[in-house]
Amino acid sequence: MSQSVELDARPLIDLPQEFLFEGTVVRKSTGQYWVTGETEFAGGALVACSLTNLLRKQLVYPIADPTSWRPHVLAVKEIRLVDPVAIGDRVRFLPAGPGRGQIQEVLPRRSKLSRRAAGAQPLEQVIVANADQVVVVFAAAQPAVRWNLIDRYLVSTEACKLPALLCFTKLDLVKEEDFRAELEPYRFCGYRILLTSSTQQVGIEELRQALRGKLSALVGPSGVGKTTLLNVLEPGLGQRVREISKITGKGRHTTSSLEMFSLTGGGFLVDSPGMREYGLWNVDPNQLASLFPEMRPYLGGCRFGASCRHNKEPGCAVKKAMEEGAIHPRRYQSWLRLASSLRET
Ligand code: ZN
Repeated sequence: MSQSVELDARPLIDLPQEFLFEGTVVRKSTGQYWVTGETEFAGGALVACSLTNLLRKQLVYPIADPTSWRPHVLAVKEIRLVDPVAIGDRVRFLPAGPGRGQIQEVLPRRSKLSRRAAGAQPLEQVIVANADQVVVVFAAAQPAVRWNLIDRYLVSTEACKLPALLCFTKLDLVKEEDFRAELEPYRFCGYRILLTSSTQQVGIEELRQALRGKLSALVGPSGVGKTTLLNVLEPGLGQRVREISKITGKGRHTTSSLEMFSLTGGGFLVDSPGMREYGLWNVDPNQLASLFPEMRPYLGGCRFGASCRHNKEPGCAVKKAMEEGAIHPRRYQSWLRLASSLRET
């Protein structure tokens, strides 16, 4: 047995730490991960990494813990992942020649933004690991705002316990006062809202400030003027992001290719493109109401307690709050729709 094979066969936990380097995954496409080499090994350049067999097996087999490299296959509770390594992950890698490495370990995540991957099987897709915030980008008009979809994204950020920033483009196409009034339910919930216009250079500096020093995940449908907005934010940034999105739109699991972009003013941005359907991950229909901040104060007050579906049940505190104007009817309808779609899956 050659030395390298022997090394591979050893339990990784016994590997002396000095063999391993740490870095952040800043780009990935199927089976290949680019890690920043913050060490003398790579001199700050990117290291193209593959995965160890053990990590790769997690693509196929159920595992106990997505951050674990130990191949315990749990038959009891199947947790399936599209990919054990996400953009933004801190990893330990073993050098494998100039500019190359092999990821041995994914370090514990501070946060993760996950969605349910497309397809019939329940698979978790971690879009970004260790993000500080999620920027939900929609147009104020053209296309018309899909409030239900905004709520879906917000539920996903609530489920991931990540702060959300609601960013609207094309402010110049609407009457600002009226539009601000439409956003009142979100302001009430405490969501931060940013109104921008790329053509009139409105809200750009504010957005720059909001992104500074943070790792931000961008979500939202296509056609809302995101590319233009990013180009105004930083010359060429929109094009660079769109190039990656083009590659990403193909393939079955749409975010098979992703990149983290660094911002001139400090901070990083990851776009999550090509999502026709934003599937919610790890959201239980019975817990959904607690992911609507304005519903939380009423959840203990229903006559049927925790079994109340807040729909046609008598003595429902949530319904009463909606009728009395404390919960916006549009948000309530959105909640109803999401709850029933979650019950179907
Ligand atoms: Zn109720």
